[in-house]
Amino acid sequence: MDRMRELVDLLNKYSYEYYVLDSPTVSDSEYDRLYDELVELEKQTGVVLDDSPTKRIGGEPLKKFEQSRHLNKLYSLDKCQSLEGFEEWINRLIKVNGKFPELTAEYKFDGLTLNLLYENGKLVKAATRGNGEIGEVVTEQVKTIRSVPLSIPYKGKVEFQGEGIMKLSSLENYNKNNPIPLKNARNGAAGAIRNLDPKETAKRKLDVFCYNIGYSDFEITTQRGMRDFIKEQGFMTEGEFAVIKSIKEAEDYIRRAEENRPKLDYLIDGLVFKVNDISLRENLGYTEKFPRWAIAYKFKADEETTILKDVIWQISRTGKINPLAILEPVELSGATVKRATLNNIDDIKKKKIKIGSRVFVRRSNDVIPEVMGVSEYHDTDREIEPPKKCPACGADVVKKGVFYYCAGGEACSSKFIKALTHFASKDAMDIEGLSEKTSEALFNELRIDSFSKIYDLTPSDLEKLEGYKDKKIANLLNAIEKSKDTTLARFIYAIGIEGIGKKTAKDLTKKFNTLEKLKNATKEEVSQIDGVGEILADNVVSFFKDGKNLNMLDSLISKGISFEEKSVKKGSFTGQKVVLTGALSKYKRSEAKALIEERGGEVADSVSKGVTLVIAGEDAGSKLDKAMKLGIKIIDEREFEKMLL
Ligand code: NAD
Repeated sequence: MDRMRELVDLLNKYSYEYYVLDSPTVSDSEYDRLYDELVELEKQTGVVLDDSPTKRIGGEPLKKFEQSRHLNKLYSLDKCQSLEGFEEWINRLIKVNGKFPELTAEYKFDGLTLNLLYENGKLVKAATRGNGEIGEVVTEQVKTIRSVPLSIPYKGKVEFQGEGIMKLSSLENYNKNNPIPLKNARNGAAGAIRNLDPKETAKRKLDVFCYNIGYSDFEITTQRGMRDFIKEQGFMTEGEFAVIKSIKEAEDYIRRAEENRPKLDYLIDGLVFKVNDISLRENLGYTEKFPRWAIAYKFKADEETTILKDVIWQISRTGKINPLAILEPVELSGATVKRATLNNIDDIKKKKIKIGSRVFVRRSNDVIPEVMGVSEYHDTDREIEPPKKCPACGADVVKKGVFYYCAGGEACSSKFIKALTHFASKDAMDIEGLSEKTSEALFNELRIDSFSKIYDLTPSDLEKLEGYKDKKIANLLNAIEKSKDTTLARFIYAIGIEGIGKKTAKDLTKKFNTLEKLKNATKEEVSQIDGVGEILADNVVSFFKDGKNLNMLDSLISKGISFEEKSVKKGSFTGQKVVLTGALSKYKRSEAKALIEERGGEVADSVSKGVTLVIAGEDAGSKLDKAMKLGIKIIDEREFEKMLL
């Protein structure tokens, strides 16, 4: 009982910080672990304390807002975290229904629930979920969100529910331009909506993804039909929506969504499975807290808190000195994380991060984990000091903008070793076997201190390296030889212009076609490329102005490196800027993209001016709506296939 009391108090404190203050001090997974422990104790003892969070939805509405009673109660969701948990739930449903009930599957967006009331075709009220029955009125705030239609075609009375979210790209932008960074997109969205000043909401560029109708003055018979109606009314819906008829289909859906999750520009913390047939839902009913006809399949956590043990400064291949957080090991999305990025000294200062503090660490979008902010300070915490010397060669450092650089130039061995490893990497010159360890040996033992020198290596040179016998030597020399036949995009990426990743290297190739033209490009020309700003354009132009770099390029070319300068290959998509939306049945998004690019087309992420063609797959969402509004040509998968022939 003592532990139950303790858990209830702790969880209520965390819920208050999370729901009311929009500023959690523990990660969701820590909250969930304590919550599960409480559920287990309640089961064992048969006792549920009056103020137990297992009986309550969300948090109490804040008094500073006007309050509103929802037409129908808004529930929380029961959750499972594995396929076994999902099967247990489905077996309970089969017992009632006699057979596998048709389900729908959709993404579980991680933001703030919003309840939107429309009357006579007009948005008349927007409210938060609050305690499920009474929420806070946030109509003015929600009106600033562009993806919420202020009027809809349907003229009756309907309450829609959606999730207010902040896209990850909007979060990144916001944090770049604001003195106090947001810890994550979920709190960013919740804090923006539950802010008395609608101007602040507008600043955060939120979106609402609509997924439910809580009340309507007409009959809805299926979730599928509900979703269609939501779309027809002009709401933004995101993520793959699927009708599921078996465990196998559910498993496939989960796998697809897990694959897709890192590519999304918004947070999802799981998936939601719902019984499709609304009349069947009535038989299944509700507990105090959630419907029995739906379940959230929660993903492994991608945010946790842990102790920041130390910060070390590391040199990069371009000479930039980056701070790296050394963490008390922590499980994130199924992997043990011991290190995370801290971006730069200004970011550290903005986030007030100190060594010894408990910090939030997030791993999203397949990138290296990042320290997002502080969860708890201790008296013994220490300030993070910027580097005074290059950690690799001991040379002085210079600060440019928010970054420190090694001033040691060519003499800095670590920088060259990293640059050579990058040069040889898979997406660059693709020299198999030229790992960081090999680069280190080549530099230290064989004095390889420029890219071109690797092309002069002989078997007798490599014999001097530890562990290099006939086969390994032949393999490496072969791989080096093979790398001479490459593409311009790979080459541009390989030579390591600061900030130029694979995508920009491809874009540069597309725009300039030849190395000669790129060498002579002006800043204005380079910055015409989508997504290339002043800084990147400057990096490119000054790279090709530097005599040392030009010598490096000449000697590489003199070794016989050649590229098929083929970017303007004519094909069925030449001159087209294409947007893919919805799911194609035969092609993954990445495959379709490659096919279009091979045929001379360009693929864009969003529908904007300049887009000439939209390929709409199953469940195409808001991009399709926008394309229709802009009168852009739209084709389906069959027509797309014809263009591939
Ligand atoms: P929930 O996780 O139980 O899920 C219900 C919510 O999911 C709905 O209100 C809805 O807004 C949302 N949702 C998103 N997409 C949806 C879709 N497609 N269909 C239906 N609903 C969809 O939410 P909850 O009850 O607000 O919160 C419980 C969770 O919140 C906990 O499990 C925990 O992870 C987190 N929490 C964290 C803290 C903390 O301190 N870190 C404190 C309290 C709660």
